[in-house]
Amino acid sequence: MREDKKSSKKILEREDIDIAYKWDIEKIYKDDEEWEQDFKKAKELTNDFVQYQGKLNDSKKLLQALQLYEGLLQKVYKLYTYGKMRRDENNQNPKYQALTDRAQSLHIEVESAISFFTPELLQINEEEIEKFLNEEEGLKKYHQFLMETLRNKPHVLSVQEEKIIAQAGDLAQASENIYDMLNDADMRFPEIADEKGEIVELTAGNFTHLMESKNREVRKTAFYQFYGTYSKYKNTLAATFNANLKKDGFYAKVRKHNSSLEASLFESNIPVEVYDKLIEAVNENLHLMHRYMAIREKMLKIDDLHMYDIYTPIVEGVDIKITYQEAKDMVMEGLAALGEEYCNTIKFAFDNRWVDVYENKGKSSGAYSWGTYDSYPFILMNYKDNVDNLFTLAHEMGHSIHSYYTVLNQPFIYSNYKIFVAEVASTVNEALLMDYMISKNEDKKVKMYYINHFLEQFRTTMFRQTMFAEFEKITHEMVAKGDALTAEKLCEIYYELNRKYYGSDMTINKEIEIEWARIPHFYRSFYVYQYATGFSAAIALSKQIKQDGEKAVDSYLKFLKSGSIDYPINLLKNAGVDMTSKKPVEMALKVFADLLDEMEKLVEEN
Ligand SMILES: [Zn+2]
Repeated sequence: MREDKKSSKKILEREDIDIAYKWDIEKIYKDDEEWEQDFKKAKELTNDFVQYQGKLNDSKKLLQALQLYEGLLQKVYKLYTYGKMRRDENNQNPKYQALTDRAQSLHIEVESAISFFTPELLQINEEEIEKFLNEEEGLKKYHQFLMETLRNKPHVLSVQEEKIIAQAGDLAQASENIYDMLNDADMRFPEIADEKGEIVELTAGNFTHLMESKNREVRKTAFYQFYGTYSKYKNTLAATFNANLKKDGFYAKVRKHNSSLEASLFESNIPVEVYDKLIEAVNENLHLMHRYMAIREKMLKIDDLHMYDIYTPIVEGVDIKITYQEAKDMVMEGLAALGEEYCNTIKFAFDNRWVDVYENKGKSSGAYSWGTYDSYPFILMNYKDNVDNLFTLAHEMGHSIHSYYTVLNQPFIYSNYKIFVAEVASTVNEALLMDYMISKNEDKKVKMYYINHFLEQFRTTMFRQTMFAEFEKITHEMVAKGDALTAEKLCEIYYELNRKYYGSDMTINKEIEIEWARIPHFYRSFYVYQYATGFSAAIALSKQIKQDGEKAVDSYLKFLKSGSIDYPINLLKNAGVDMTSKKPVEMALKVFADLLDEMEKLVEEN
């Protein structure tokens, strides 16, 4: 343990923080003057681009337009990113608020000016595109981009129909808007006593924290009061939920998809079987989740585990301090399995100030990885000396190295990766580091602490999100069939799922039946399954990396260098995991099973 100068003092002003702990943002723009010049250039480029309207049906013109399009978007993103990152350094600085606002307005202006581009591209038919690709060598770079346009073509309607659909956009938002207003603004929860006996108003924000309380009475009260409140509004909540499902059904139908699920997965070109295989594989392994609940019950020293007992930590009295310097070393050592090239990149990242480490007055909270195409992918943190922050560093470093390798190897147009693969690199890092922390620590209690940390990730990311995915599938299918989804019916479905996932050995309190009503993600249909698939892919990859070494590392690095040059499923297949099969999910669940074995053994010995 080392002395921690940063967090023991009060929050510093940004200028009082050592430059070594601040990101090298001047790599984006060396000063604001340079930003202003680029701002002007972006406006000029927009005017140049507009000249191509009505002229895309020609290979030379198409190439020029695509090049301009790429350059323009690159600049607009860069302008915005710089403004926003500067603002995040200190939100009290009005100068960068203004810069961010200007970049945002520019973005809207540009989007509007170039809105002719996609519809006009869609006018070109497949044969013509093939012909253009043969005629113009430079167009080859845009092959995947053009194929993606063609893939969308059957689902785009006539100009007149598209206009009507666009006009209905506001109406379509209504269910979600009403839900948000009720959920975030109007709903009020009762006051309860917290751990210290102080009276607090229950909120969506402090609920999670109260559910982690070591005091069972606090958890129990929070649980009953929280869900009891939702229950009072269950009919309104069922109505907004239904309206949202109907909206999805409507869009799926008019855009000629077979189901809402298919429509949603179409966006990233994910086959429906990926969704089904996930649910199937998790269902076949629910006994593992039940085993975990049994361990939980035993470690909490109770004989009747309830739904309000599943969030509280099961390993007590471990207070591990990890300074930033120690965290850097642990990340480097923990990720050694990823090979020399990867580890050298981490070192490069630390040496070149990718990370904005500590909190300062006015700095944005939380953590992220972000950058521009021609700068480093920086990391914003608010580092505190604990285990969570060690893993946040490894996680964000995963994102950053994925971005860095992509930028080095792909043109701007493929430099973004899809949500389906976005959390793979971050989770691989966390999994490898976790493995290292578990095996390197001799202390049993510390070992158990890390295993519990990992087990909880499996529970919340794989099992819980898959349960959500299953709930979405059932309810969407019912609406498609014309079945009535009353509040009672929704509660019944949700309750049964909980019983299935958590097992009949524990008490599935009836009040959990309304939990669906508090999940905002259900208004972004068929989204959450990606947390479970991404996690599975990452755990399977990290296992292969440990088992197969160099060969697995090579294909993994290739994946990190691919950006969006291909569809997510293909990218992952090349990296070594086939998400259209159950195998990766099963592999991940095997890791979970091994962790349970280890935990059970440690509990026995204790
Ligand atoms: Zn992430």
